Amino acid sequence: MQDKKDNFDVTVIGGGLAGMSASIHLANAGLRVLCIEADPLDKDPVGESLDWSAPDLLKALGLPTEYLLDQGIATYKRHVILKLRNGLERHYVPGEWLGKPPYNVNLRTLHVDRSELNQALREIFIGKGITLINDRVAHVETTGRVIKAVVTAQGERITSKWFIDASGSSAGLFPRTFNLPVYEYGPHKVAMWDYFTVPESIEGTTLHADGAGPPYMEWVWQIPIHPTIISVGYVTTGEAVKEKRQQGLSVGEIFAAQLQRFPDLQGFLHETGKDQPRTTSFRCRVFAKVAGPNWLVAGEAAAMVDPMTSNGVTAALRHGAEASSLIIQNRNRERLPRLAAAMYSQRVLSLARFFNSGIENVLYDWPIRNRIGAFNAGDLYTIPAWSMNVVYSRLRPQGLIKTTLLRLLLATLRYSLDAFHWFCKRTQSPPAAATAP
Ligand SMILES: Cc1cc2nc3c(=O)[nH]c(=O)nc-3n(C[C@H](O)[C@H](O)[C@H](O)COP(=O)(O)OP(=O)(O)OC[C@H]3O[C@@H](n4cnc5c(N)ncnc54)[C@H](O)[C@@H]3O)c2cc1C
Repeated sequence: MQDKKDNFDVTVIGGGLAGMSASIHLANAGLRVLCIEADPLDKDPVGESLDWSAPDLLKALGLPTEYLLDQGIATYKRHVILKLRNGLERHYVPGEWLGKPPYNVNLRTLHVDRSELNQALREIFIGKGITLINDRVAHVETTGRVIKAVVTAQGERITSKWFIDASGSSAGLFPRTFNLPVYEYGPHKVAMWDYFTVPESIEGTTLHADGAGPPYMEWVWQIPIHPTIISVGYVTTGEAVKEKRQQGLSVGEIFAAQLQRFPDLQGFLHETGKDQPRTTSFRCRVFAKVAGPNWLVAGEAAAMVDPMTSNGVTAALRHGAEASSLIIQNRNRERLPRLAAAMYSQRVLSLARFFNSGIENVLYDWPIRNRIGAFNAGDLYTIPAWSMNVVYSRLRPQGLIKTTLLRLLLATLRYSLDAFHWFCKRTQSPPAAATAP
């Protein structure tokens, strides 16, 4: 086994958004960074519709909005549209007041071509002198709660003072190593998606769904990543896909059948069947205690938030920024201060629990959606969700007081939605399909 010793201050595992964000911030502060990425080919990255906090986080990495638009990496996302199968639609647009002081929210966030965004970030990353190796971390060596080294599939043993796990949701290296407590939300889900050309640009992210009716919501996203190219993706439960596969349908046929159900999407059917759509499966979950004496977990390795929240990219960039900031502040110490590590974990946990439980209770599950209608349910989810993002980006919680305030606010909102969900479930019958065999 080769031993790479003491060359680097920080080892970052995973070169996705969280890993690149952490690496760039660390390198900007003069730390020597090694990033280990298992899959340099960057197959089918997702995360194309950004929330309102993401542009500032990208700017901090050297990618201002104007540059992303000029280079054709991004298009403006001004609003979100919920479109039901019966043709009714509602537009969710942030209020003008949010763009004014003291909030100063960027009211036009972005859709991005994720392959091009990753490429742009990687160029910055390389320009900062960050060392990137293509290998898979196979083992984490520990002494108690301290990480001593990571060992790669090719047999390199890498030591450094600090470690960041940004290995995404399926790997989750440090959570598995330390058997961290986990909160899971909703069933296993599957996403299948493809890209289509359109004659003219479409504005906003459109979510197509049935609205009231199905006990568990499935939906289709439509995201214009370029003026004439849209990404269309279908999200449903793993169970639903399994059933259809058992009936003999291919993934391509399942995808095409779903597009067929929505008038706006039927026009794309002639293009489907050219290939199988891209697919991925996931389970929303959040780990607790994602920071230890000399390590932190960032991005989806720490918290997988549902794609409907449009919060995964923001979370990955934000975790990368916060995890690196903790290391930079404590670079001359041997360990992270316990309080700072605990506060980082609390912020990751409470925000992701809020987003996941909110979207499950209010939109995916039937009781609230059936009681107040899909459009009002959309308001009930988006108003607190957008507000929390504003609060977070303006409050910039770091220490005990601000983090505790944030946790209290998030927990109050979460418990209120839990209680409303419970009430709606007790006071109405489930929709017909819920009782079907
Ligand atoms: C279907 C779907 C749609 C989504 N849509 C949106 C959206 O519209 N908006 C939004 O904001 N978010 C969205 N998200 C979420 C968003 O894409 C992710 O949260 C974000 O990209 C996560 O970035 P990451 O860096 O944490 O993880 P990843 O991008 O998964 O990066 C992890 C990296 O680690 C590498 N790796 C894994 N194991 C190892 C190992 N052992 N050794 C070395 N390297 C390793 C992997 O190869 C990978 O490159 C979506 C997610 C899904 C599943």
